[in-house]
Amino acid sequence: MPGSSPPIELRGVSKSYVRGHQVVPVLTDISFTIEPGEFLALMGPSGSGKSTLLNLVAGIDRADSGSILVGGTDITLLDDSDLARWRSRSVGFVFQFYNLIPVLTALENVELPLLLTPLSPRLRREHARAALSLVGLAERMDHRPGELSGGQQQRTAIARALVADPDILVADEPTGDLDRRSAEEVLGLMAGLNESMGKTIVMVTHDPKAAEHAHRVRSLEKGVLADADPALHP
Ligand code: ADP
Ligand code: MG
Repeated sequence: MPGSSPPIELRGVSKSYVRGHQVVPVLTDISFTIEPGEFLALMGPSGSGKSTLLNLVAGIDRADSGSILVGGTDITLLDDSDLARWRSRSVGFVFQFYNLIPVLTALENVELPLLLTPLSPRLRREHARAALSLVGLAERMDHRPGELSGGQQQRTAIARALVADPDILVADEPTGDLDRRSAEEVLGLMAGLNESMGKTIVMVTHDPKAAEHAHRVRSLEKGVLADADPALHP
């Protein structure tokens, strides 16, 4: 359903980590809005806080202050179990190194998020098969990750991220471990999901070529959001 995704609004979001006796600020007063159905790329040097910001948006980690409104709900106010429930319904995750379970087949990996839902085993299988077909891996369902190329593993991970039909996909350097051709396949797939299914995508990347697939690029510098980059996306 294109256009069904909620807007994501960050207001004055800050986050520090404590290292020994030192408080290390990682994100300082971040405010911006991700539009419904937007494909946003987050760039910036290593250590600038990209993964931390992504994890806050995805409800994996908690901000120290500020609010994060998703479709009007402030997820920073949810208790741990409500946040976990929101996350499992609303957000799919894609990681740099795929994070597939090596002893499970592609189909079993994709089915995993559905084990937390009341779906019957038969429906779980059906949904997992449909997600793998969507990413072009109908022929590879019974393969284990070790029998798949990097690009195929990442497409399996995208199928796993999609299988519960979340509105939001977050991806942390999803092409960081792929050759150019596989990277382009994965990016084309994500852009297609964004376009045809209206998924909001927030993607962290180092790669300007990857960022070209996004509608908009924002950059982090030492935990502060830099101005939008009109050179990349006028
Ligand atoms: P990026 O993804 O842009 O490379 P991160 O968000 O991973 O940056 O990290 C930003 C900063 O926060 C880094 O200085 C990192 O060392 C620090 N950091 C990240 N996670 C933790 C943690 N769990 N504990 C302490 N410091 C952390
Ligand atoms: Mg990172």
